[in-house]
Amino acid sequence: MKVWAIANQKGGVGKTTTTITLASILASRGGRVLVVDLDPHGSLTSYLGADPNDSSDGVYPAFADGKHNPTEHIRNTGIDGVFLYKSSLMLATVDRTIGGADGKGLILTRMLGLVSSKFDYVLIDCPPVLGVLMVNALAACDYLIVPCQAEFLSLNGLERMVDTVKMINNSVDKNMEFIIVPTLFDHRTKVSNASLDIMRARYGERLWRYVIPVDTKLKEASKEGASIIDYSRKSRGAVAYSQLLNDVLARDKRDVTVNEVRKAV
Ligand code: ADP
Ligand code: MG
Repeated sequence: MKVWAIANQKGGVGKTTTTITLASILASRGGRVLVVDLDPHGSLTSYLGADPNDSSDGVYPAFADGKHNPTEHIRNTGIDGVFLYKSSLMLATVDRTIGGADGKGLILTRMLGLVSSKFDYVLIDCPPVLGVLMVNALAACDYLIVPCQAEFLSLNGLERMVDTVKMINNSVDKNMEFIIVPTLFDHRTKVSNASLDIMRARYGERLWRYVIPVDTKLKEASKEGASIIDYSRKSRGAVAYSQLLNDVLARDKRDVTVNEVRKAV
């Protein structure tokens, strides 16, 4: 089982879109894919037709109840091969309630370890805040995908995210690799092209070689709660995400599982 986190400390940069689209493409290729919605806003949860107001189900109880069994809290979705460990608004309280507890950063790692035989891939949609939830995602993942909107304001957020990765790598003694993915790219604008040049100069090989273009089909698919693969397989967005998936699969060849013993955060 491979675990990828999709994170950036900025909202509206395409994290949820990247999560659901990569998950749908993996599933369309025959993979069994679990998506974990760690964002208390629950966009991914709503996208997939579940209710973020219900805090008795999904991933929240894992942070509140020591006897939590993830298998009972993972559900089917309308997309074949994609399963959901849903969010709830109560996730917003986790920092306050368990912020200081021992092993708090490894709760998700433990939960995923319990279901590792059931899924080929796990994709974790992160909240745009550095807190217990993001630390859990980064500690559990083998590989990190950082969507970043190609505009100047996003560049500072990106720098913070890269610092966070370094901090987590030091504290859990891992060598998490990441890829930065320019999103919502508009070839016609100067700002998209200029910010891409800056990203390329700063991050070199860690910047993906292509971009995810602005594509209204992605927005429409999300309104329909459909995967872009079912909604518009040949759209520019779907084609770009398929290419991204191929590149991430090629980069993340290391065969690491979440069962690996890691130092507590
Ligand atoms: P985040 O999870 O980082 O907050 P979202 O994935 O929810 O970001 O994207 C924010 C908004 O932008 C959503 O309405 C989404 O449908 C839209 N969006 C994301 N990526 C694209 C894209 N490549 N082209 C057009 N719209 C997009
Ligand atoms: Mg989101």
